[in-house]
Amino acid sequence: MTSENASGTTVSAQDIEDVRRGFMLVLAAPSGAGKGTIANRLLADDDKLALSVSATTRQRRAAEEHGVHYYFLETDEFERKIKANELLEWAKVHDNYYGTPREPVDASLNAGKDILFDIDIAGVRQLQDQAGEDVVAIFVLPPSIAEMHARLSGRGDDDDAAIKRRMKTAIDEVSGWQEFDYIIVNDDLDKAVETVQAIITTERLKRIRLPKLSGKMEGMIADLKTATAE
Ligand code: 5GP
Repeated sequence: MTSENASGTTVSAQDIEDVRRGFMLVLAAPSGAGKGTIANRLLADDDKLALSVSATTRQRRAAEEHGVHYYFLETDEFERKIKANELLEWAKVHDNYYGTPREPVDASLNAGKDILFDIDIAGVRQLQDQAGEDVVAIFVLPPSIAEMHARLSGRGDDDDAAIKRRMKTAIDEVSGWQEFDYIIVNDDLDKAVETVQAIITTERLKRIRLPKLSGKMEGMIADLKTATAE
């Protein structure tokens, strides 16, 4: 190599991480598939992944904090945000409004940070319609319905009637599986977490998330031309 080449364009894995655009990670699953546990593990292990904080008009629960679990809004304020196009998606779930504020999502994606969403299927569809390539949707399956039932009973949160209700809701949820990019089975928690982490690693390298790499690529092409000039 000549000294000319030594001062040419360099690129590292960190450069790619530094210039990439973030993406929206949607994890969806029927109750009892273990989505919450997977999500908590992902968030604890990855400082480039943060949970989206939704707005809602439902009552705050005792353990919840405004701005951390949700932004708790009055109905008229939520409806004003809908009209002003300040929400990326929204839905009415059990008579309450829920929605994703647009501005923090835009800021995170532009800063190369990924966002994890815990939203209903209507919200997932709106994200996919609006944000297409920025959305990566993973559906988590329990290994069997018997195992799903055992997990719901073992959790002790619900009585038999509530478990049956959750399983009825799951009919619609599982029926929507074809709308997702990836299907994973949570038969072993560690493996399921590793699989989602592998998907995240892969998605971060997608060329469509790297428009800001063009300067480096042009530099490399220029270096190639210099190195091969007759
Ligand atoms: P919860 O009241 O138990 O916190 O949430 C109820 C439901 O609302 C859950 O199914 C959750 O996925 C959904 N949800 C929470 N935030 C949003 C949101 O921003 N948009 C949509 N579409 N659904 C949401």
